[in-house]
Amino acid sequence: MNEERSLNFIEEIIEADLKSNKHGGRVLTRFPPEPNGYLHIGHAKSICLNFGLADKYGGKTNLRFDDTNPLSEDVEYVDSIKYDINWLGFEWEEELYTSDYFEKLYEFAVILINKGLAYVDESDPDEIAKAKGTPTEPGIPTPARSRSVEENLRIFREMREGKYKDGEWVLRAKIDLASPNMHMRDPLLYRIKHAHHHRTGDEWCIYPMYDFAHGQSDSIEEITHSVCTLEFVPHRPLYDWLIENIGIYESRQYEFARLNMTYTVMSKRRLLQLVNDKLVEGWDDPRMPTISGLRRRGYTPASIRDFCDRIGVAKRENKIDFSLLEFCVREDLNKTAWRRMAVLDPLKLIITNYPEGQEEVLIGENNPEVEGGEGQREIPFSRELWIERDDFLEDAPRKFFRLSPGKQVRLKHAYIIQCDDFKKDENGNITEIYCSYVPESKSGEDTSGLKVKGTIHWVSVPHAKTAEVRLYDRLFQVEDPAAEPDFKSTLNPDSLTIIDAFIEPDLLNADTKRGYQFIRKGYFTLDKLSSDEKLVFNRTVGLRDNWAKK
Ligand code: ATP
Ligand code: MG
Repeated sequence: MNEERSLNFIEEIIEADLKSNKHGGRVLTRFPPEPNGYLHIGHAKSICLNFGLADKYGGKTNLRFDDTNPLSEDVEYVDSIKYDINWLGFEWEEELYTSDYFEKLYEFAVILINKGLAYVDESDPDEIAKAKGTPTEPGIPTPARSRSVEENLRIFREMREGKYKDGEWVLRAKIDLASPNMHMRDPLLYRIKHAHHHRTGDEWCIYPMYDFAHGQSDSIEEITHSVCTLEFVPHRPLYDWLIENIGIYESRQYEFARLNMTYTVMSKRRLLQLVNDKLVEGWDDPRMPTISGLRRRGYTPASIRDFCDRIGVAKRENKIDFSLLEFCVREDLNKTAWRRMAVLDPLKLIITNYPEGQEEVLIGENNPEVEGGEGQREIPFSRELWIERDDFLEDAPRKFFRLSPGKQVRLKHAYIIQCDDFKKDENGNITEIYCSYVPESKSGEDTSGLKVKGTIHWVSVPHAKTAEVRLYDRLFQVEDPAAEPDFKSTLNPDSLTIIDAFIEPDLLNADTKRGYQFIRKGYFTLDKLSSDEKLVFNRTVGLRDNWAKK
């Protein structure tokens, strides 16, 4: 975390609480994902906040799976969530599950029933919804509201025992049918669902509603600062009411603005649609805003943490430009990526005064950003090279500092060359260019006295290896896809371009643990689809922000 920035409002609260010894000096936060999808960059904000607060104030953070909805949850999601949190660089204190509290939550419900503060209702869902009234009209009680405590207890027990079918009964809190807060109008606490749960199996056929489980779980764990997103502000009075009437630990909830970003969607429901409809390769498709997608794309944990730190924590909703995330990864990779040469759109260059059959080994440092360069690699050089097609122009403007007839450039880590001639095919496409090199101009031992303005990258033709390179663009064409009637209709058809590239041979040693800067072409990472037969690289991000201008 950046120590220089001012405190965010949650840090202010914690510092005040520590001063007044409100929680006995304890700071215990939690990250409470529902295991119904993979984590996305919005979750990263919540993770960095919760774990960051604990780190900063000598506290701890629990990982609690809010697994109250058996139908949409899966262990695959549990595993991916744990992996992603660790990968981001955080370690939780305890791994907990709301389902571990099912018995306790049941007892809490019984406490409320005994106090006359909860009742079972057999009205069908439409009736219940209608009887709740509208924000301007109070609700009206259903006949169930006046049922006796004994009968409520009996039926609730029978619900648990499996005597009833799905939806036949619900348990509701008895609060205030005229409350201006609709969440306080006798909200549902339990519903019947004969469904197999990924952890409790078939032990339960009634499941607590999220609103009944969430606050109580914080309370059971004695979470000191329960941080969540703004949409839960209207739920807070209900959480406080439940905690007070059950008589358990008072966890306090604080709400911050969720992360929204341009050109993407950030809800698991929508991301799941993209996966299920096969509009992307999967949850970890490098175009997805998921942590796993960003990882596969080549984002680093440090860049994501830096992003979360920069966007800050506030109480007002806003929309963050996707370019900021790209800026952060560029900053990080500039410091850490190893430099390599790859030609994405090849044109053949022949050095006419370099003897045929001759070759030599040149040296390039791995990382010019650190002292010592993190070692070096060998780069074979020969008479025939691949260069980038757009590094040559037949009729170049004055400020074109690359190759054109009569002009000189330096070949990176190699020699100065001059373009003497070129060849075209019958369609006017340039097929080969012919250059001469200056033998005294070798990088590192240049005695030629020549000054050239441009440096271009290259790969030796006989030594070049091939790789599949995947170039990505925004997944959506519009800034706010979720605002469209059908967000899927705004997918960018050109979000993925696959090309074959020539790469320098040392890239055969590439691994997924680091990023690579293909000089002048951007930052790349080895993709998991790579095999002994074929290397696949993903472009993480270009060297500059090309999008901001559009
Ligand atoms: P989604 O709406 O994307 O499905 P969710 O809120 O249902 O997300 P949960 O698994 O319930 O997902 O979220 C776990 C935690 O992450 C919650 O505390 C939630 O507030 C937080 N969170 C989810 N989305 C964001 C976001 N975009 N920005 C910040 N925090 C988020
Ligand atoms: Mg949720």
